[in-house]
Amino acid sequence: MLMSPVFNFSAGPAVLPKEVLLEVQQELTDWHGSGMSVMEMSHRGREFMQIAAEAEEDLRAVMGVPSNHRILFLQGGATTQFAMVPMNLLRGRKHIDFIETGHWSKLAMKEARKFGEVQVAASAEDRGYTYVPAEAEWRLDPNAAYVHYTSNETLGGVEFPYVPTTGDTPLVCDMSSNFLSRPVDVSKFGVIYGGAQKNIGPAGLTIVIVREDLLGQTLPGTPTMFDYKTQAEGDSMYNTPPTFAIYVAGLVFKWIQRQGGLKAIEQRNIEKAALLYETIDTSDGFYHCPVEKTFRSRMNVPFKLTDPGLDEEFIKQAGARNLLQIKGHRVTGGMRASIYNAMPLEGVKALTGFMQEFARSRG
Ligand code: PMP
Repeated sequence: MLMSPVFNFSAGPAVLPKEVLLEVQQELTDWHGSGMSVMEMSHRGREFMQIAAEAEEDLRAVMGVPSNHRILFLQGGATTQFAMVPMNLLRGRKHIDFIETGHWSKLAMKEARKFGEVQVAASAEDRGYTYVPAEAEWRLDPNAAYVHYTSNETLGGVEFPYVPTTGDTPLVCDMSSNFLSRPVDVSKFGVIYGGAQKNIGPAGLTIVIVREDLLGQTLPGTPTMFDYKTQAEGDSMYNTPPTFAIYVAGLVFKWIQRQGGLKAIEQRNIEKAALLYETIDTSDGFYHCPVEKTFRSRMNVPFKLTDPGLDEEFIKQAGARNLLQIKGHRVTGGMRASIYNAMPLEGVKALTGFMQEFARSRG
């Protein structure tokens, strides 16, 4: 029997471009004739300094990061940023405005409450976090230290189709699960942060992009490692950075460039998501997705079988076809297919083909 290829729909750590994995494999024991693996290199050596500088330069080019924004390669995950953002950005103010759109924005809010007064400028709770509240109705406080939103709710599958406008108040975004999935105007942001383990590379690397004028005003008692200014001044090497993860991320940035950049990546992501949502919506109710159409995520597609009694069989049969890790988050149940940049269209076609067949046989 011919083995079907494996397609991995994990929400993160997630699928990486096969091409990049093969490059890593090829260079694993001997990076560019150095006789060393990147894992074995001093972070202050010439070789690794070059790898890190190139990764930063490539990310700057891919995203169009303006020169007055610093790029930091940190550890601790997006969860650490839930605390680092208020520590760095409160700047003597008291209030923080949050847009509450689901699980991850709520966790960010919970952590921020340790440092400042969280104000819910808008919430999607009334309709079960299935949409983004209209920007015109947000109650923004002109004196807030910053406005925080989660551009893509990884669990709920709710994605902002636009970048909000917050005037002079710095805009802060947890971009963990749609980072590099579409072009964004970085100049609109005070801070963008995200864990790497979805669209960027291996777990262990956290990327922070911060506007320079926001540096250097941390809360008293902020640990040195949590001060963006320390990290910026030390070129993210105040201590040992996650060297191997930075190296792999650098290869992913080059891969994105070879794909034609973020515009081309976005077109592919639109096509993949459209195919999957269409399959759900035309299943005569066999499958359904609770998220309002305008706000459906291109990255994480949550869906349910209308008869949850079939969930287990669905997952089992999908697994038999090498369609892996599609079980929904324990909080939401149902299914979730994450279709990040590195998921090829063929993977989505294999999934939708299976979904149609399963619905026909059980519907
Ligand atoms: N924010 C979002 C939107 C996420 O998807 C995740 C991880 N799934 C996190 C924050 C937490 O990230 P980390 O595990 O890197 O701390």
